[in-house]
Amino acid sequence: MFTLSEDQIAIRDMARDFANVELAPYAVEWDEKKHFPKDALRAAAALGMGGIYVKEDVGGSGLSRLDAALIFEALATACPGTSAYLSIHNMSTWMIDRFGDDDQRRRWVPKLASMEHFASYCLTEPGAGSDAAALKTKAVRDGDHYIVDGQKQFISGAGESDVYVVMVRTGAEGPKGISTLVIEAGTPGLSFGANEKKMGWNVQPTRAVIFEGLRVPVENRIGAEGEGFKIAMAGLDGGRLNIGACSLGGAQAALEKTLSYMRERKAFGKRLDEFQALQFRLADMAIELEAARTFLWRAAAALDAKAADATQLCAMAKRVATDRGFEVANEALQLHGGYGYLSDYGIEKIVRDLRVHQILEGTNEIMRLIVSRALIAQGN
Ligand SMILES: Cc1cc2nc3c(=O)[nH]c(=O)nc-3n(C[C@H](O)[C@H](O)[C@H](O)COP(=O)(O)OP(=O)(O)OC[C@H]3O[C@@H](n4cnc5c(N)ncnc54)[C@H](O)[C@@H]3O)c2cc1C
Repeated sequence: MFTLSEDQIAIRDMARDFANVELAPYAVEWDEKKHFPKDALRAAAALGMGGIYVKEDVGGSGLSRLDAALIFEALATACPGTSAYLSIHNMSTWMIDRFGDDDQRRRWVPKLASMEHFASYCLTEPGAGSDAAALKTKAVRDGDHYIVDGQKQFISGAGESDVYVVMVRTGAEGPKGISTLVIEAGTPGLSFGANEKKMGWNVQPTRAVIFEGLRVPVENRIGAEGEGFKIAMAGLDGGRLNIGACSLGGAQAALEKTLSYMRERKAFGKRLDEFQALQFRLADMAIELEAARTFLWRAAAALDAKAADATQLCAMAKRVATDRGFEVANEALQLHGGYGYLSDYGIEKIVRDLRVHQILEGTNEIMRLIVSRALIAQGN
């Protein structure tokens, strides 16, 4: 588990080379212009990164969660926001591949794996974020259709995506009344809010998704009625690893930029990297990152092995990787002095992008809730 195979090293290096050439030179400008880099994402998909852990018979790459963590970390060294959108696309595509029947898999997954089509994951609502099982978007059966009414909030990729994997209420209150529908762009009754103005993740749009009397064929339901919450949470186990990996990549890039900067920058007649107090801060940054990375790989291996405690390990690893990643990036900004605050150096973008990883895919408080519930249940 702690030594990468030759194949894994090749996958990681391929993703890092792609990131260095296709993302890094443009990331600061994309952030400024709020440009969603669809062409670059499609180029990543051409290398197999559109359906990383999706099965090969529908165009996926059939790789492991650990392979995916290596890829998202490598891409995030260039642009955490782009890597994070790709992670959400992969999560949504995997949900259709894993829980859809053969017709559904063949209908949607090949175009998602190639990224001819883009996907969004729609769980959060204006009144239901952390308490996602309280969602209210209603889907009422009408013959061989559902009629959907409600609103999703903060949806990444919304307005640009072609396929929306949407958690809706088909039954009673609580998690068991939730089902998952695939809703296609262009369906009458589907509309979007304005692109939110936000602190980071400017390379991808975030919008409300609104459903007004929207008719969805019953054949677009993934899994049985009432299984939607389970499907949504299964997606998030892997999604949390991916987002953690994006934090590691952003922080790794910030550390590398800091090492180069401190080699050049002088103060009090010495290079910054000659001050021992600062050398120790670099060491702590590297130690925290390596510890978080090792833990994330352990959680990814547990998910690959379908271990009984995989959900808890993914929640723990998400909490550690996103907190440590943000702290390391913020420390990198500090070590750049005033220049770290300027956008040209690329550090402040990393800090802004990484901040939201502590909030989404379940806040880091909710990660503690998952872990503490499991601990207390074991104790009982
Ligand atoms: C840029 C961005 C992109 C996003 N993309 C998506 C997406 O693509 N799809 C999607 O479905 N959602 C998405 N989200 C939504 C995100 O998952 C939610 O914002 C998040 O789950 C928190 O929900 P909330 O904002 O409603 O906060 P709330 O749930 O209102 O929480 C507010 C605060 O209370 C804390 N809290 C709540 N309950 C508890 C508790 N029981 N114990 C301790 N603390 C608690 C929270 O941790 C938080 O600090 C995105 C959000 C952002 C900002």
